[in-house]
Amino acid sequence: MQTAEIRRRWLDFFERKGHTVVPSASLVSTDPSLMFTVAGMVPFIPYLTAQVPAPYKRATSVQKCLRTLDIEEVGKTTRHGTFFQMNGNFSFGDYFKAEAIAFAWELLTTPEADGGLGFDPERLWTTVYLDDDEAFRLWREIGMPAERIQRRGKKDNYWNTGQPGPGGPCSEIYFDRGPEHGAEGGPEADEDRYIEIWNLVFMQYQLSAVRSKTDFDVTGELPAKNIDTGMGLERVAFLKQGVDNMYEIDEVRPVLDYAALAAEKEYGANHDDDVRMRVVADHVRSALMLIGDGVTPGNEGAGYVLRRLIRRAVRAMRLLGFEDEALPILLPASMEVMSASYPELRTDFERISRVAYAEEQAFRRTLVSGTTIFETAVAQTKAAGGATLSGERAFALHDTYGFPIDLTLEMAAEAGVTVDEAGFRTLMAEQVGRAKADAKAKKTGGVDLTVYRSTLETLPAPVEFTGYVDAQNEA
Ligand code: ATP
Ligand code: MG
Ligand code: MG
Ligand code: MG
Repeated sequence: MQTAEIRRRWLDFFERKGHTVVPSASLVSTDPSLMFTVAGMVPFIPYLTAQVPAPYKRATSVQKCLRTLDIEEVGKTTRHGTFFQMNGNFSFGDYFKAEAIAFAWELLTTPEADGGLGFDPERLWTTVYLDDDEAFRLWREIGMPAERIQRRGKKDNYWNTGQPGPGGPCSEIYFDRGPEHGAEGGPEADEDRYIEIWNLVFMQYQLSAVRSKTDFDVTGELPAKNIDTGMGLERVAFLKQGVDNMYEIDEVRPVLDYAALAAEKEYGANHDDDVRMRVVADHVRSALMLIGDGVTPGNEGAGYVLRRLIRRAVRAMRLLGFEDEALPILLPASMEVMSASYPELRTDFERISRVAYAEEQAFRRTLVSGTTIFETAVAQTKAAGGATLSGERAFALHDTYGFPIDLTLEMAAEAGVTVDEAGFRTLMAEQVGRAKADAKAKKTGGVDLTVYRSTLETLPAPVEFTGYVDAQNEA
């Protein structure tokens, strides 16, 4: 089943169930505390928090999302894209748990021939929050055996804003890919074998004294309870298309194939190369979608994320052995498949491609100048009888010349020197610390996502952050 067909079935299904179909909002978030739309619920935050009365009781959308938080996972797991589409259905003080669960079950298990997604009910698992007996009972009533309902704690199955206000338990739906993908034991045991496809959030309680995402007091029931759900379109697509991961679906695979063709590599022959091809396929698509939504490369904010995505894609192509300009080959391939759902990509492609190609050319120049600095540093290190490039050198290359650390490491290895990586990381961490302090100072409004925004792009490891959509990200 093509991705566009899954999208169509989704919207038709929820429209039949009385939902207003709302077009995707921009990837650039309208919420001042968020750089990107990281979940389908983001455009609906004012309604979900009852700041603004919702113009409809029920809504559904297929929302363009971008999660920089997942960038290190891309290509390594089967299921994390930087760009992806989240299908959502929402209830604003209208239906609640029973209907949300029933809708999800019906759409997932109705045979394809009857307009559903045709998942084998025997291979679906669910999770509920520890004490959410109501959700447990509802799943049992719908036919889910108790052995396939796992209870999980706050970290996985509780949504809140990190602020006093609405909160509530979640229930997630997983698909079992089978024993060849890992051990038995449900999602609690293995999230690579059991793929999370859909998160149902039950906004049910009033929380007070929120000390952290997992430490708060429940003070009562919300007068109007809301439903917020998110289903990963690419995840359903890869499971329905019988491929191994989301980078091999119809909307992504052509870019991967062009990367392989250009680099004269066979996909599937070497693990590291495969990861690189998947990174290329993901990042090129994300860049296309970001530029499509008006982002241009820059040194901060959304522009910096775009820059980093393009650089990482170009780097990955070089590591695959392809040193010519890559985007003129890859970007049109992505546009061709994505424009079926987003026709504006085709009509706007002249502008989009101009922005993207210029950025690749700029990075190629960076590589040229950085390489000279690098070679000088190596020569000086060797002349002084050393065999290790200092952390300061590596940091300066990164910070001043935009030279990614993995590039420095690789070129150092070729030049027969090592790099003081620990020293480099210390300097990076100090920089992140400064950015964090800076962000704290700049904290505005009720929702502090500035820490996330300012540190994420520079920090090598995933960061924990608190904020509105944190729970969406983690749940
Ligand atoms: P995971 O645990 O796999 O990282 P999540 O719990 O962070 O997923 P949610 O925040 O619950 O994801 O988002 C709702 C749905 O969106 C998920 O069930 C999944 O299907 C999809 N999704 C989340 N992150 C990604 C991503 N980076 N790429 C593709 N799909 C995603
Ligand atoms: Mg996640
Ligand atoms: Mg989740
Ligand atoms: Mg999860």
